[in-house]
Amino acid sequence: METEYETRPREAIARILRAEPRFFSASELCTRLDEAGTPVSRATVYRTLERLAAKGEAALRLNDRGEATFMSCDNGHHHHAICRSCGRVEDVACSALDNFVERLHSLHGFQLDDHSLEFHGKCRSCV
Ligand SMILES: [Zn+2]
Ligand SMILES: [Zn+2]
Ligand SMILES: [Zn+2]
Repeated sequence: METEYETRPREAIARILRAEPRFFSASELCTRLDEAGTPVSRATVYRTLERLAAKGEAALRLNDRGEATFMSCDNGHHHHAICRSCGRVEDVACSALDNFVERLHSLHGFQLDDHSLEFHGKCRSCV
């Protein structure tokens, strides 16, 4: 028997996102929701994802095909290291860039006030 919790699309989507540290497209989520026996219309999936992203509970990223993909994410500023093989995403603290920001200023006189950055390579399971 399904609980009320499981039948709510937002909770079902958030649960799939939280279960795996990777980006999902709306169509991947539709497939997962079907498999889990909690089908949700694509329009509802899109609307839910946009709402999660607006609230800072999900990160939005365009993949290589220009498709919007989403992953469960903490609010705070951080970066993503994305595995080319399996798609696993590691959160990287921005403090890892402290030296770079200092050098940008000392070598180029550039005062950084914003940045967006992601890392690509292979995760520890795929090297
Ligand atoms: Zn993140
Ligand atoms: Zn990997
Ligand atoms: Zn940063």
